[in-house]
Amino acid sequence: MYQCLVCGFSFLEEEPYDEGYTGSFEICGCCGFQYGYDDYDRLEIDYEVLSEEEAIKLSHKMYREEWRQQSFPVFDPSLFNKQDLLNGCLPELHMNEHFKNRGLL
Ligand SMILES: [Zn+2]
Repeated sequence: MYQCLVCGFSFLEEEPYDEGYTGSFEICGCCGFQYGYDDYDRLEIDYEVLSEEEAIKLSHKMYREEWRQQSFPVFDPSLFNKQDLLNGCLPELHMNEHFKNRGLL
């Protein structure tokens, strides 16, 4: 399994990108980010100016912030224990620790 570059959980069955930054089109079961779609389809990002690496990293950061603002809803709640979720969302306290441990803050 591969780690999601947005949420930091390892539920991905495929590598998110190939060497040319083409996305796998897999949807992360945790945060719901779709590689190859949610990274290359943002109106706020100027894809002409940034390199592909810079653009996808920015898209990950933006998606992570939006996910945080929605209180971390889980795309596929069956991946987690019911006790770990609050109404289908991951608890903020837990997530801050999780992001810090993975250098995603
Ligand atoms: Zn994810």
